[in-house]
Amino acid sequence: MDDDNFDLIVIGGSANGSQAAYIAAKNKLNVAIIEEHDFIGLPEHCSGLFSYSGLNQLNSMPPDDIIFNKNIYGANIVSPNGKIFSVRKSDPHAIVCDRAAFDKFLLNRAKDEGAKVYQPYKAMKAKRSNNMIYLDIRSKKGDTISLSSPLVISGEGIRGSIANQLGLTPPPKNKFVNAAQFYMDDLNEINQEMVEVYQTQKYAPDFFAWIIPMTNTTAKIGLGTSRKSAAKELEMVIKEHEILKNRCKGSDITRVTAGRIPITGPIKKTYADNLMLVGDVAGQTKPTTGGGVVLGGLAGQIAGQIAVQCKLKNRYDSNFLKIYQKKWKKEMYSNLKRMLLVRNYMNNLSDFDVNILFNKLENKGIIQDIENLGHIDNQGVIVKKFMRTLSLYPFYFRTSFKLLKSFF
Ligand SMILES: Cc1cc2nc3c(=O)[nH]c(=O)nc-3n(C[C@H](O)[C@H](O)[C@H](O)COP(=O)(O)OP(=O)(O)OC[C@H]3O[C@@H](n4cnc5c(N)ncnc54)[C@H](O)[C@@H]3O)c2cc1C
Repeated sequence: MDDDNFDLIVIGGSANGSQAAYIAAKNKLNVAIIEEHDFIGLPEHCSGLFSYSGLNQLNSMPPDDIIFNKNIYGANIVSPNGKIFSVRKSDPHAIVCDRAAFDKFLLNRAKDEGAKVYQPYKAMKAKRSNNMIYLDIRSKKGDTISLSSPLVISGEGIRGSIANQLGLTPPPKNKFVNAAQFYMDDLNEINQEMVEVYQTQKYAPDFFAWIIPMTNTTAKIGLGTSRKSAAKELEMVIKEHEILKNRCKGSDITRVTAGRIPITGPIKKTYADNLMLVGDVAGQTKPTTGGGVVLGGLAGQIAGQIAVQCKLKNRYDSNFLKIYQKKWKKEMYSNLKRMLLVRNYMNNLSDFDVNILFNKLENKGIIQDIENLGHIDNQGVIVKKFMRTLSLYPFYFRTSFKLLKSFF
């Protein structure tokens, strides 16, 4: 085999591309990973909040020294008028880690299995010909290398330019949520076991604001919004919001990060001849919370397994690769679709509507159900339960037009 010819080329060495590369390399495929940034995971674009069950399912628990907080039990969800309802599990449910270091951990794991990493190299141009993909990659200095492979897995994130060149359509850019996040010190009254989620159309239309505690005085405080300037909105919410301003009084911003989140659910087609898409570029991101590392990672691992099958059977055509879509859909499609319904519905509700909804949720039985069934990665189950909860029907009826709108 030539130096520049591989069984598989993975575009993007971040979390989800690395999961695919790891599985394929572990199964003896000759894998190349193309990553444009000098330091994987930077610029940081994540809060690093991952469930224990998701990490275990992916066999990807990071080492202790990159975990800030191992004991997240649940979330306090705050209504626009400051009512809090808590969803707390009896055991720790999630960790908060250093996301850039987590990406490095996953990339190194793929490297240790033999994957060759081209970094910093940007995939520039991809062309399909005679059942092969020909890819030009360029270093920062401007040197270009041409690589080839019968199979590409794109884990290139939301930009999706290679996916586009090869004929697949990434999630719509005009529907991304803009997000900003501050690392903050010397915060007040932080419950280090609970994430805080602030519903507020005033400051965070079409998403929410959050506190993700690292210790009892430090946290990642962020906000997602359909408006352009998330950082400005975040500055405003920590100055003006009744609860947040007290948490942040006298504290310091030590670091600012930002990113964009696809919240329109999975795209229609995630495979084509010689190509599979994994993670954000495939819309495998939770429309409710914007989490994309566990479900995207699972899809990445599935794509890695399919790559092994491709090599065994010497099949790279879309008719064979459709098995990828079938498999990841079986794992997460209905879950993602239900979360999309919730996201659309929540986005249609005014702050006034949400205050009324929270009053209804005070009903003990509902909170109990959420605590028993709720799960960061599998929120579809709780959506199903909500749909069957008769005491919420007067609210659905009151907002029926908005509910109907969210189906379309
Ligand atoms: C503020 C914020 C907070 C978040 N918090 C969480 C959270 O707590 N938990 C969670 O699960 N998710 C969270 N997410 C979502 C999560 O960050 C994404 O879902 C996840 O990063 C998607 O991973 P990916 O590997 O698909 O894509 P990305 O992480 O975007 O990685 C794509 C990689 O491809 C590289 N690349 C792109 N194009 C090219 C090219 N042409 N050539 C070479 N390399 C290329 C990029 O440099 C990058 O390394 C958050 C997102 C934001 C914005």
